[in-house]
Amino acid sequence: MSKRDLRKIITSLMIIVAICITTVLSTFLEPTKGSEKTQESMKIEGDNLKVYFLDVGQADSILIQDKNEFMLIDAGNNEDGEKLVEYFKSLGITKFKYVIGTHPHEDHIGGMDNIINNFDIEKYYMPDAITTTKTFESVLDALGNKNLQFDVPKEDEVITLNNATIKFLHSEDGKSDLNDTSIVLKMTYGNKKFLFTGDATSNVEKKIINKDISCDVLKVGHHGSQYSTTEIFLEKTDPIYAIISVGKNNTYKHPREETLNKLKERNIKVYRTDQDGTIIATTDGEEIKFETIKTDLDGE
Ligand SMILES: [Zn+2]
Repeated sequence: MSKRDLRKIITSLMIIVAICITTVLSTFLEPTKGSEKTQESMKIEGDNLKVYFLDVGQADSILIQDKNEFMLIDAGNNEDGEKLVEYFKSLGITKFKYVIGTHPHEDHIGGMDNIINNFDIEKYYMPDAITTTKTFESVLDALGNKNLQFDVPKEDEVITLNNATIKFLHSEDGKSDLNDTSIVLKMTYGNKKFLFTGDATSNVEKKIINKDISCDVLKVGHHGSQYSTTEIFLEKTDPIYAIISVGKNNTYKHPREETLNKLKERNIKVYRTDQDGTIIATTDGEEIKFETIKTDLDGE
């Protein structure tokens, strides 16, 4: 065999080895690439609407996703702020189209300064109500530092999150109880409707009783307090599912037995963040499915 032939054989062998290595490597790399893609599409490109009732203990925080658009209603207590930021970043969120602080109590706007500091926000809504707490001032400071104006929703104002339509049913100034300044929203996606009530009491329920408040999923007012969820309100809203955002062994004894009984009498399926963890409702506009996950977001 001449030296030339030997070189040829060695070169051919090297090419074969190189092809083999490439094939083996790509076989291992492909599934990883694929699974990343699947994860990504689950995070951002899903065709369904997702509503996360986040387990933040005795507080509220609700994330709504329609494809690549996100909306946040409330941000838990002060100690939940950083955990929420981390969780939202893990979902791939960089921007919220809307952020809503339903009313200026700590268990709803506690983590809001962290949210404002960490994400782009197109519109921030709050009621025309002020309070002198440090928590409320930190929200105003965070908005100010970002040069972000807040909006007070107009009655019956409608906004959209991709294919979801959201209507503001209520918000008022803080002359009365701060709970009753709560922004109340109804979201419609296909045939499915969600009602978000903040901490609105029976006073607000009475005010909006003649509006179209029918819904499939009701976020029960004020953590299941006895001052919300009146019989007539349940009759008019007529939900199939009720979500109670509440902390384990909370001092308010929420949710109250009488509220739970009213829901039970109407055969409404109840999900509770203290028992179920984070509750995720997914709908294609025709069906709604629920999944629950134990998270470490619990603010206790
Ligand atoms: Zn509350």
